[in-house]
Amino acid sequence: MSAPHYLLGLDVSTTAAKALLIDDTGQVAGVASTLLTVSSPRPLWSEQDPADWWAGMAAAIRQVLRETGVAGDAVAAIGLTGQMHGLVLLDDAGRVLRPVILWNDQRTAAECDEIRARVGRERLIQICGNDALTGFTAPKLLWVRAHEPEIYAQARHVLLPKDYIRLRLSGDYAMDCADGSGTMLFDLGRRAWSAELLAALDLPAAWFPPVYEGPAVTGIVSAGAAAETGLRAGTPIVGGGGDQAAQAVGVGAVAPGIVALTLGTSGVVFAATQAALVQPEGRLHAFCHAVPGRWHFMGVMLSAAGSLQWYRERLTAGAPFATLDAEAEAVPPGSEGLLFLPYLTGERTPHPDPLARGAWVGLTVRHGRGHLTRSVLEGVAFGLRDSFTLIGEAGLGDVRQVRLSGGGARSPLWRQILADVLGAELVTVNTTEGAAYGAALLAGVGAAIWPQRGRRLRRDHPADRPHHPQPGGDNGL
Ligand code: ADP
Repeated sequence: MSAPHYLLGLDVSTTAAKALLIDDTGQVAGVASTLLTVSSPRPLWSEQDPADWWAGMAAAIRQVLRETGVAGDAVAAIGLTGQMHGLVLLDDAGRVLRPVILWNDQRTAAECDEIRARVGRERLIQICGNDALTGFTAPKLLWVRAHEPEIYAQARHVLLPKDYIRLRLSGDYAMDCADGSGTMLFDLGRRAWSAELLAALDLPAAWFPPVYEGPAVTGIVSAGAAAETGLRAGTPIVGGGGDQAAQAVGVGAVAPGIVALTLGTSGVVFAATQAALVQPEGRLHAFCHAVPGRWHFMGVMLSAAGSLQWYRERLTAGAPFATLDAEAEAVPPGSEGLLFLPYLTGERTPHPDPLARGAWVGLTVRHGRGHLTRSVLEGVAFGLRDSFTLIGEAGLGDVRQVRLSGGGARSPLWRQILADVLGAELVTVNTTEGAAYGAALLAGVGAAIWPQRGRRLRRDHPADRPHHPQPGGDNGL
């Protein structure tokens, strides 16, 4: 039998269960996905049924194998990734006890206050790197304890979304450090469950699975899962990582100095660090990276390219992006004194305030549509710079390169504005494959397909010429 040559990345996101197959040169061989839906049975609630994740994922795996013609036994290893923070609560026999409470569920404000009161906000940030947030896992456990005591009484296992896929594939309860550090129950520095936080919140340590590094093998595909998916029984599965960490592996943001910037509807600034640094006020997220011995900061802007989308739809009747770009390019940097604040849906970093609001400031009769457009692009760039400033102040040092992805990266003018405002070289990376690609890379490292693991994880694939900051590019601001 010839050696297996393919790696499978599995991503259970909020919208789809996706299976991506790459070959051992890193080329994408194929991808298949099954759409998922979210239910909101009450205001602020956001839930999914893990049975749908598994059915969707098994179908996606079968489909990608069928469409690529790759045999199950040619898959050398599997990496998992997915939406972070979701609470999957299971009983002794591994049965799901209630719908999963997702990352964007907002029901736990009172439990976040309770956690701050029990632990102390400063201490919480010191241990786990983050302030209490409604979307994170720990407050959801407290919510179930308070509101559904009969379910809480049956609970024996806590998993995150991608780890439920692992359970169904292998029968193993396991988690990786990157995803684990989004539970708010993790000791960031020690990369392990925090005995202090578990004790302070009165949660049983036995409910929490063993944790592994991203490329470490956690188990193998069972005979039952092999029959359901077409994979080979015995195929190794690695720890993987939450979607942000896996996506960062995919774009090579694994070393300090390289920052991954996603300019989608929301904006995400992701900076790898060599130590467990925290922003003492919790204004940046700090998590373990999916790469062993690395951590990362993360800043989130809620309306990044979403600000441009709003502006284009509501105020320009959907003018072509190229037209808007050309008009904005004719306006000097600084939009002749016009400022736009991009807080159309509140903000997270650096102003954690759901009631923050957008604004144009400094309008005069001189200003036209080009100014309005340019000010939106600049306002988003400056909002993102706030995250870079916090990251620098927290001890990261110089940013050598920004790796840009997301829909907003299609605008050459926006790319140049970002390079100017962030003061760093900026390259565009093609990440249509997303987090599943990084998970597949982690699988390749774990299965020792790539002996030069560092080289593979640092894989460069810029898709465009770099933009360099221009002198005076952020003039007047
Ligand atoms: P999502 O976060 O929703 O997945 P995407 O990464 O697909 O977002 O990006 C969608 C955003 O990209 C839209 O908000 C839109 O404003 C922006 N966008 C798409 N094409 C362009 C373009 N040519 N120039 C600037 N922005 C663009």
